Amino acid sequence: MNMRLTKTNVKGGSLRVKNCIFYFFISVFLCGLCGCSLSRDFVGFLKPEGPPSDKQIFSSYALTQLKKSSAADVLSVIHRPEYELLSQSRSVVASAGQKKKGYKSWLNMVAFNEEETTAMRKYLLIVNERPKVLFTEPWEGLSFDCEMVLESEILDEPYSNENARRLEILRKVQEYAHSDIEELSTDNEIISVSGMLINQGLEAVLVKLDVSPALAIKLDKKDTVEFDHLSFNRGKIQMVVVDDVVKVKMRLGSFIKKTVGYNRYKCLQCGYVYDPFLGEPEHGIAPGTSFESLPNDWACLECGADKSSENWLLLP
Ligand code: FE
Repeated sequence: MNMRLTKTNVKGGSLRVKNCIFYFFISVFLCGLCGCSLSRDFVGFLKPEGPPSDKQIFSSYALTQLKKSSAADVLSVIHRPEYELLSQSRSVVASAGQKKKGYKSWLNMVAFNEEETTAMRKYLLIVNERPKVLFTEPWEGLSFDCEMVLESEILDEPYSNENARRLEILRKVQEYAHSDIEELSTDNEIISVSGMLINQGLEAVLVKLDVSPALAIKLDKKDTVEFDHLSFNRGKIQMVVVDDVVKVKMRLGSFIKKTVGYNRYKCLQCGYVYDPFLGEPEHGIAPGTSFESLPNDWACLECGADKSSENWLLLP
């Protein structure tokens, strides 16, 4: 009897083991079928998209100097024939590109003064449309920078207050961006979509400032103006005016957290952040002054830590 029981137990045990092995292989097979394309997509998603990097794209933008660069100067720095298509009109030149996988596209555009043929306005737009995968944060983002020389009528007109002046300047930026894109009148899809995105982003800011004009005072402050955006969820914008030049920096979605173009440094002793886009005008540092070009005796405005490298961290 005991013998029989033991035999039955052994038989039952081996059957369970066989079942387990069978189900294991079935599971592996099914996972392989379903997971194959997923894992391939996931690996492809994680792989970098190749050059040019955001930093390289931004460097083309940074090299154009308003009121100085000629059309020949701009053409020599703005266009990378291996990655970008060039579009030109009478007074606007643009170089647009897209990464192979199509997630990222960009537009570098410069408008010239017709008589003097020097650069008067420059724009850079980078758009990343990488989709959300698993639990990662949404990667979609947009980075927009522009600098333009404005007419004295716009800057010096007697406005009712400083907020109204800032609002009007921002409207002018939107107007110029729109007309410069229009002037290209190209069938390049990147350029036409870029124009739409720039317009949409600035419009979202203007709508917010129309409702709450008092926020305009924050445009050149660190806790700058934040706004909602239909496609990229959330955005931030900064605007500074230096003499007759207005500079705008707008970041949407994932680009809010990234440093594109302006190297910000954080004080490791107290957490103060130096933002070169804004500078520290109240302390005699003009907007656009890089951390590297601050005087050697410059010290943290919050805690007095000196400029030595052990006190400062370059933000990603
Ligand atoms: Fe500090």
